[in-house]
Amino acid sequence: MRPAIIVHGGAGRLRGEDVGRRLEVLRGAADKGYEIMARGGSALDAVVEAVVVLEDSGLFNAGLGSALTFDGVAELDAGVMDGEGLIGAVAAVRGVKNPVVLARRVAELTDHVLLVGEGAERLARILGLEVPEEVLVTREKLERLRELKARWRRGEDYAWLAKLRKLVEEHPGYFGTVGAAAVDGEGRVAAATSTGGYWLKLRGRVGDTPIPGAGFYALKGVGACSATGIGEYIIRFSLCRAVCELMAKGLPAEQAAREAISRMSAELGEGLAGVVAVDANGGVGYAFNTEAMTVAYRAAGMERAAALAPRKADQRATA
Ligand code: ASP
Repeated sequence: MRPAIIVHGGAGRLRGEDVGRRLEVLRGAADKGYEIMARGGSALDAVVEAVVVLEDSGLFNAGLGSALTFDGVAELDAGVMDGEGLIGAVAAVRGVKNPVVLARRVAELTDHVLLVGEGAERLARILGLEVPEEVLVTREKLERLRELKARWRRGEDYAWLAKLRKLVEEHPGYFGTVGAAAVDGEGRVAAATSTGGYWLKLRGRVGDTPIPGAGFYALKGVGACSATGIGEYIIRFSLCRAVCELMAKGLPAEQAAREAISRMSAELGEGLAGVVAVDANGGVGYAFNTEAMTVAYRAAGMERAAALAPRKADQRATA
């Protein structure tokens, strides 16, 4: 059954344009991760490299495509974990194109799990992972920010945080965080997630993505999980930890993902999140309670990764 990898490009509403291109990039990311493992590489290498492909594409809300804060900067979050004891994350970092790589370096080079802001940027500088601000804060993005703000201002002034759900409904492009979960030929599991957060977020806001158990999680011998959606709710529910605990009870990835999302819907409501997961046997699964999600996966016996953009109406997990 092994190896296997599943990647996601966020959950939310799907905008018509770009869906085909995004699916193609997701498929390429899953293939890249799979091939790394097929050559004997680790699940950790696979998830990090798959996420780098998505960060570099500029098509998702991560890396080059990251959303801007209310005052026009790009503050990125990412986290990575495997079942072998490696765990690292960065939050609210500016001027870093591949925060998932920086998250891995935090795990490998420091005694810490999570580095934020300036401290994380200092490490990025030492490691040569820094890019000029304009790479992430483009003119195009600033224009989009102006439009979003103008629309928002026509509603209740600065009431946006309390109206988060409404905001997300009104601005379909919101989600597009990326992530991956993989199990390699030796049964090692890993997960990685990377995001720009969401448009109009406050400076300093940290979402679920760099929080272990919320936006990413991996359990040795069990499985790994990556989440996307409204971080504030994912943190409340500890979504990825919930998926891994269900897998620890013996549920395959597919059922664990569905069960966790259905429990989250019952507890906190619909329209909030999506997950991808792998179990240690090589099963992959996804589930979401938003309108749509984009995923790609490749399991043993598949010639190429399959990419799909399931809608809530026809939701089903993969095997
Ligand atoms: N979970 C991310 C956050 O809240 C957003 C997303 O998944 O698109 O920062």
